[in-house]
Amino acid sequence: MSYDAIIIGGSYAGLSAGLQLARARRRVLVIDGGVRRNRFASHSHGFLGQDGRPPADIAADGRAELMDYPNVTWLVGEAAKVRGGSDAFVVTLANGQTQSARRLVLAGGVRDELPAIDGLAERWGRSVFHCPYCHGYELDQGRIGVLAVSPMSIHHAMMLPDWGSTTFLTNGVFVPDTEQLEQLANRGVVVEPERVRSISGERVDINLADGRSVAVDGLFVMPRTHQNSPLAEQLGCTLADGPMGPYLQTSETQETSVPGVFACGDAALAAGSVALAVGTGARAGAGVHQSLIFR
Ligand code: FAD
Ligand code: MG
Repeated sequence: MSYDAIIIGGSYAGLSAGLQLARARRRVLVIDGGVRRNRFASHSHGFLGQDGRPPADIAADGRAELMDYPNVTWLVGEAAKVRGGSDAFVVTLANGQTQSARRLVLAGGVRDELPAIDGLAERWGRSVFHCPYCHGYELDQGRIGVLAVSPMSIHHAMMLPDWGSTTFLTNGVFVPDTEQLEQLANRGVVVEPERVRSISGERVDINLADGRSVAVDGLFVMPRTHQNSPLAEQLGCTLADGPMGPYLQTSETQETSVPGVFACGDAALAAGSVALAVGTGARAGAGVHQSLIFR
């Protein structure tokens, strides 16, 4: 059987796209590997109506709502390959199974590459974060560290004083110029130029090369992001350069540069969130549906 649409990725973005298509009585297949980006965090914040809930619960509720529609099929697995084009896409899963559809929705999200500092990755989502809107408030205006990964990290350092007293660890990545030092000072940011050796402890200690350590309640760092799914590249979809990594360029209806291929969520955003995943997903679902009628 050929589906109207195959959705690659069954988290917030893919579920939201699927809901519009299910309600339009279209035949939908969701292929999902079950590896959400926020699986490291115990609570999700900033999504209206669900603020502070465990991220897995939000996804599970969404999945239950979607699967109430009899025209939706769910497949656990990894989409590994794609061929064909609009009206006749064929997706091959890692186990060799093939599925075909008229349209594709790429909702596979991104994965985070973190700086290789001892003790950092283990604390990702617990006391090491990237998004102040997601995790800043809970630090209770405590002590905050910002670890530089590029000169762009100065934006991070300039923002964080709204959430607590901020130390900017430049870690040899760059040296702020006089104007930047003045801007940071105006925001009350302390600049620490010593290299960071490791991160330890529960409320974290940032251990410096000269033996000192800086104690903070939360450490912020910008990850490098990479597309999770290999399909966009195989299809030749155009990517844009975001501050954290490449993301899929899309039209007003979330269609990529390849006709019939739509994208939503983190895979198609410079900086994603659950709210934006759900929002762009809804737009992709409606976009796919209307493309099936009007072309
Ligand atoms: P994801 O949720 O990452 O889901 C992608 C899905 O696609 C996964 O299930 C994956 O297995 C599947 N997939 C990928 N490739 C394939 C393939 N080839 N075949 C089959 N399946 C595939 N945002 C907030 O709004 N609030 C927060 O509090 C918050 N906290 C966060 C904490 C941390 C530590 C991190 C890293 C992120 C946080 N975020 C938060 C951001 C949030 O996780 C993302 O914006 C959101 O998950 C994006 O949803 P998505 O559906 O696009 O992708
Ligand atoms: Mg069903």
